[in-house]
Amino acid sequence: MDNPTFTQIRYDRPGEGVARITLARADTRNAQDRKMLYEINAALDFAMHDDEVNVVIMAADGPHYSSGHHLTDQSPIGEHGPPVMGVGGYDLPAAEGYMAQELEIYLGFCWRWRNLPKPTIAQVQGKVIAGGLMLVWPFDLVIAAENTEFSDPVVAFGVNGHEFFVHAYELGHRKAKELLFTGDSIGAQEAKTLGMVNQVVKLEDLESYTLAMAEKIAKRPSMGLKLAKMSVNQSLDAQGMWTAVQSAFGLHHLGHTNSLVKHGIRVEPTGVRMIREGARSAKAAAE
Ligand code: ZN
Repeated sequence: MDNPTFTQIRYDRPGEGVARITLARADTRNAQDRKMLYEINAALDFAMHDDEVNVVIMAADGPHYSSGHHLTDQSPIGEHGPPVMGVGGYDLPAAEGYMAQELEIYLGFCWRWRNLPKPTIAQVQGKVIAGGLMLVWPFDLVIAAENTEFSDPVVAFGVNGHEFFVHAYELGHRKAKELLFTGDSIGAQEAKTLGMVNQVVKLEDLESYTLAMAEKIAKRPSMGLKLAKMSVNQSLDAQGMWTAVQSAFGLHHLGHTNSLVKHGIRVEPTGVRMIREGARSAKAAAE
């Protein structure tokens, strides 16, 4: 099969049995617009339907993996690809349409990607902010450069956290609360200690290390890999992960609607300033 071409990402086959999707908007710190999300989804579908591919790497151009969602992009659902959740009603007023949109492009994609049958590896560097984590946590393994910093500061927007609320599963409940309450970031090494990151490597070794691991995994039987992945995922499902995520998604929309009623916009108007101030003081403390 010929590699598909995209505008917001690239798709290539860097090794035996390995496909790689690379976020290609370094000029925006790989902010995820809707077109990018649908392209990632199409690329993952392509990899799943290619029987020569056994493992998929998610990588990113530039110094930062992803700064999160491109919030000003309001292009219509359906413009960049067929809807995956099929709930409809995206343009309905008040809370109804917005909830349908976020169910489609955020929670829907994340849960779909989490359940794809083949092993996936996130290869991350630099800043991974809020929605950036939604291009890390749905995937199976995480290889991080030493300079990676993970954060989800969106409590400043008056919501619980980003829309794929698996924070407690990823970080443990106490650290999840600290991350959310303070808006502070967690470094790669600490994330590894918490079990959120598999391996931390030097930035210059990130690509080669990840590819070597992907090639090693890709040599193993696809059936065994699928069964192993499903079994671990089902262990989390048995703990109620999907129910917890859906419940938090409902609370997330209570937060959006609270701001809408209170301020006429779906997030606390002081949120951006608060997040910028937090980032400035963290930078000053590090210098
Ligand atoms: Zn939201």
